[in-house]
Amino acid sequence: ATFKSLGLIDPLLEALERVGYKQPTDIQAEALPHAFGGRDIIGIASTGSGKTAAFALPILQKLWEEPKGLFACVLAPTRELAYQISEQFEALGSAMGVRCAVLIGGMDMPTQQIMLAKRPHIIIGTPGRLLDHLETTKGFSLRTLKFLVMDEADRLLNLEFSEAIDKILKLIPKERTTYLFSATMTTKVAKLQRASLTNPVRVEV
Ligand code: AMP
Repeated sequence: ATFKSLGLIDPLLEALERVGYKQPTDIQAEALPHAFGGRDIIGIASTGSGKTAAFALPILQKLWEEPKGLFACVLAPTRELAYQISEQFEALGSAMGVRCAVLIGGMDMPTQQIMLAKRPHIIIGTPGRLLDHLETTKGFSLRTLKFLVMDEADRLLNLEFSEAIDKILKLIPKERTTYLFSATMTTKVAKLQRASLTNPVRVEV
């Protein structure tokens, strides 16, 4: 498969050329058709597989088609991963003017509140800090959310983020698309999958 044959739109094909992704990785070739079909996806894939673009590309494509408010939220276990994800969204979505905000613990809330006031399309954060903002930052909510991504779900759950994730799931629209990526399928991940995904297709590499 090529990115073009998978149905990606021109602004994204141009961005892929700019960043030098010549052809889809296995997880991208498997996940993208399901994503464009509107399915929830559980992806068993680890770092290095190209999983970030596997979820970023369909989100950006949909954002291009119907740009509207805060669009997607990505939960990540660590600040490093959150920044890497935001860099990929920005690299692939730069021509589309996509705005990202990173919300992670250990940094001051007011600075993040200023970023939120700029109306980002994509939020990438650790569950604890995202929940802090949902509970305390005036005017901030996820009620227009179309996509939820839980990246490295096995690590999210090992880091005791379960309680924050449960609360976040209660604060976002039920009508949404959810992608869950994990390096391994554990009992906890399976439980999170049942609580958060609707009739998901499973892709594995
Ligand atoms: P990830 O598994 O998402 O952490 O991605 C691992 C690395 O592969 C990152 O540095 C990406 O920039 C890169 N990458 C992702 N997709 C592709 C692709 N289709 N072709 C070449 N490099 C890629």
